[in-house]
Amino acid sequence: MRSISVLGATGSIGESAFDLLMRAGGPKAYRTVALTGATNIARLAEMARALQAEIAVTASPERLADLRDALAGSGIDAAAGPEAIAEAAARPADWTLSAIIGAAGLPPGLEVLRRGGTLALANKESLVAAGRLVMSEANRHGAQILPVDSEHSAIFQSLAGEPLENIESVTITASGGAFRDWPLERLVRATVAEASCHPNWAMGQRITIDSASMFNKALEIIETHEFFGIDEGRIKVLVHPQSIIHAFVSHRDGASIAHMGAPDMRHAIGYALNWPQRGPLPVAPLDLAEIGNLTFATPDEQRWPALRLAREVIRAGGAAGAVLNAAKEQALDDFIAGRIGFCDMAPAVERALDACAREAGFSADPTDLEQVIGWDRRGRHYAACTAGAA
Ligand code: NAD
Ligand code: MG
Repeated sequence: MRSISVLGATGSIGESAFDLLMRAGGPKAYRTVALTGATNIARLAEMARALQAEIAVTASPERLADLRDALAGSGIDAAAGPEAIAEAAARPADWTLSAIIGAAGLPPGLEVLRRGGTLALANKESLVAAGRLVMSEANRHGAQILPVDSEHSAIFQSLAGEPLENIESVTITASGGAFRDWPLERLVRATVAEASCHPNWAMGQRITIDSASMFNKALEIIETHEFFGIDEGRIKVLVHPQSIIHAFVSHRDGASIAHMGAPDMRHAIGYALNWPQRGPLPVAPLDLAEIGNLTFATPDEQRWPALRLAREVIRAGGAAGAVLNAAKEQALDDFIAGRIGFCDMAPAVERALDACAREAGFSADPTDLEQVIGWDRRGRHYAACTAGAA
């Protein structure tokens, strides 16, 4: 029986993974080692009981007593805090899904790689913040990373083993998010509630707002570069409102191989779970006659400065990705808390990138977690609205 762990089990991706695991037979099909979550203790305990996990871990030390209560009589261990999450990730398991949101996913992801495990990676932030470190740890320990972001799973499937030198370009699509058709004057006044509704995908609030600002696509451009090793000039973005084609790979002989499917994350998660086989998944079959039209447009980089920043970050290299990711997380916190407006997020990120470049330069890649955390702190500091126009 295969053993699995799910980090970030209580989130949107974690729930989709749980659905797949339970449909497959739950504890009859998989031996669950660890499940982790943050504040939704009742749900974490419920999932741990359903999958008969060995251990459930909350990120919040102050919630440990609640978790113990919720697991009473089950025989499931409880633990709390970021170190306990990293320790849970380090426990041997055949397949580990990292579905934690944000830079907090990096340390446990590295633990999975260091034990040579298979890491199904939804946590794109770890590749943005520390792509070189993540990929070199994977190589060093013979670990396997399987992309779970829909576009990257699509590229992975469309590459079909072709060497990179035969690839002309890779195109990832963007739905355009909640504000695709909004005039710029209206965008300035966009509220958190408006930015939290995605037209096609049901996702966590933070990534939904990142989709509206195109920061999600900015992270994905960097993720493509870091994971596949494709240079920035060969990574393209197309706005595709129907979200049916997730990505396509254009080969040197003029053929483009596209990946199509309903916008349902259970495909990318299930593909990684069944890899290298393909198994049946509860994803609606594609009915192109019903959809009728697939449309595409080039995104306007004036309107979406996040896309320009992603390309600048790749060209700068070194620690720029760690700063962009952290600054974006800070700006998003400030927007959600009502401290800044929707259109203030990109300038805050740019301010942090400029300040960090002036302060220390980006030339060297962070070689360990401590260095990444140092850059992360600087990025958050300079992006914070209290930093003003530093
Ligand atoms: P979410 O906010 O719905 O869930 C996040 C999970 O992480 C929850 O289990 C939460 O408890 C946990 N968590 C939050 N803060 C934590 C912390 N500090 N330490 C440890 N755990 C913490 O997020 P999501 O939408 O499921 O996204 C998860 C990841 O997958 C993100 O990296 C996101 O970019 C990526 N992703 C999501 C989707 C999607 O459809 N939701 C698609 C592609 C990629
Ligand atoms: Mg995506």
